[in-house]
Amino acid sequence: MASPYLERRYLVGFETRRLPHIFTDVLVIGAGAAGLRAAIEAADGGAEVIVTTKGELAETNTYYAQGGIAAVIGEGDSVEDHIADTLEAAVGLADEPVVHEVISEAPAHIHELADWGVPFDRGDGELLLGREGGHGRNRIVHASGDATGTALVEVLLTRAREHPSVKLWGQCFVLDLLTDPPEGGAGSECVGAMTWHPRYGVQTIQAGRTILAAGGAGMLWRETTNPAVATSDAIAMAFRAGASVADVEMMQFHPTTLYIAGATRSLITEAVRGEGALLVDRNGEPFMSDYDERAELAPRDIVSRAIMEQMAKTQSTHVCLDARGIGRDRFVQRFPGISELCESFGIDPGTDLIPVHPAAHYMIGGARVNRDGRTTLPGLLACGEAACTGLHGANRLASNSLSEALVFGKRCGRTALAELAQMNERLTARRISWSNTPSRRTELDLTDVRNSLRSLMWRNAGIVRQGDRLGETLEIVNFWGRYVLDKEFYNDPAGWEAQNMLTTAYLLAECALRRTETRGVHYRKDFPDTDPAWARHQQVRRTEYQLVVE
Ligand SMILES: Cc1cc2nc3c(=O)[nH]c(=O)nc-3n(C[C@H](O)[C@H](O)[C@H](O)COP(=O)(O)OP(=O)(O)OC[C@H]3O[C@@H](n4cnc5c(N)ncnc54)[C@H](O)[C@@H]3O)c2cc1C
Repeated sequence: MASPYLERRYLVGFETRRLPHIFTDVLVIGAGAAGLRAAIEAADGGAEVIVTTKGELAETNTYYAQGGIAAVIGEGDSVEDHIADTLEAAVGLADEPVVHEVISEAPAHIHELADWGVPFDRGDGELLLGREGGHGRNRIVHASGDATGTALVEVLLTRAREHPSVKLWGQCFVLDLLTDPPEGGAGSECVGAMTWHPRYGVQTIQAGRTILAAGGAGMLWRETTNPAVATSDAIAMAFRAGASVADVEMMQFHPTTLYIAGATRSLITEAVRGEGALLVDRNGEPFMSDYDERAELAPRDIVSRAIMEQMAKTQSTHVCLDARGIGRDRFVQRFPGISELCESFGIDPGTDLIPVHPAAHYMIGGARVNRDGRTTLPGLLACGEAACTGLHGANRLASNSLSEALVFGKRCGRTALAELAQMNERLTARRISWSNTPSRRTELDLTDVRNSLRSLMWRNAGIVRQGDRLGETLEIVNFWGRYVLDKEFYNDPAGWEAQNMLTTAYLLAECALRRTETRGVHYRKDFPDTDPAWARHQQVRRTEYQLVVE
């Protein structure tokens, strides 16, 4: 039976001539660090830019970033050392020229952001540098202690908002990338997107260039640090449009989120461990040095698995962070947001242990891009968590993602400008249409499907994976897909989000099943060794009714 995930090119049928259309030089999908940086670059270069986001403007993964941005700033640090740390974490899968370029360019972005008004923390006028897992040096710049992302978004949003050539549209959900011819893939070109807005309904935004910066996929798992907007729309819409999507099996789990029954999983940045906090089990015993000589500062995949194993050994639902050695005053000064969070649950980090548990955190995979941010689909560029640049390989080094979002955001803006300059004809309305075959199958309760999918992914496609469970996951996801992917119109984006989540779950399970080895964040219990034959990316794309894996 054909997979439901390969049949449908567009979530909804349409005829562009019957829809309102809006024209712009550059359409940016997403207003996190990557999208805003791309928009500012393109607008500074003279383009008219529309930025769409599906929720409130600031509601992004970027807003919640705590630890900071990695860059070679400090005395004694070097680009070579940062590259070496990044490559070590990436376990043979990083693209070295990309690593070199992002790390070399990151410091200039920090200085630029400081000039634009990001209030990075300083001591005696010098930038203060934190330390995080996998970094051999202190090289993480931060703002307001643990509120780096908030400060970053505020400054970038203000800059974009004040730019006469940038329009920022919140609540403007992108359903699909529009291609001409409509089938997408080889021979097609991306010419904008179809959007849904609570007031205006379905519209098209036709653009000279489209930049996909729609973020990550954390909502696919029951436990996640990501906000509700992270439903993997970017991967799903790029895949439907026929662009190559790479490394989807590489999802990074964060070792430490606050574990309080009924509360959302708020991140406790690893900078807390960088300041000296220890992980202890239910008996109060430190255990990380039993798993890795770098102990608390080992890369995230190692710490996450160690926690899961220690929880199993001690039959506990969580472990704890012991930050008492940092001292209450220092803790409050360095981590004001986490202090407030702990206080709201009656936890005093100066005297109490902080209960923690791993959670899905960062999608390494995404639309495959080259060094200019071009995807395999002409007209479409991608950056940030939505893209797979090859920087992170099989494991992301902490705080490298914001550096990547800024560097590739700027590149996408530049590439869009260069490509627009080569277009001689003016944008005119494209006549594109699509129709889906109506279905009379039962409607499933989408809230149930979403919740069940997130539990399934946590159990079967989470920190520890094995072939038979991944196979079952595919079976179940294909079954749900037949009853969910065949529907078209919903009253709000939750239905389309569920379709996107199922699509990405299908791709992830498929790729994780095929990668019969353990590498970085992808841990296969049945294939615990790293296999040199697998030192390559997995790319998937859709042709009509077929999944192409390269
Ligand atoms: C809790 C937390 C802490 C983190 N801490 C750090 C850190 O300290 N350092 C670091 O380097 N990284 C950190 N990360 C990771 C980092 O924040 C993200 O990888 C990065 O911010 C991603 O930026 P982005 O611009 O690609 O996406 P985002 O910031 O997630 O923005 C995505 C945008 O896309 C929009 N969007 C999504 N789907 C659609 C759609 N269908 N239609 C329209 N718009 C859409 C959203 O509305 C949003 O505007 C952290 C992540 C989290 C969740």
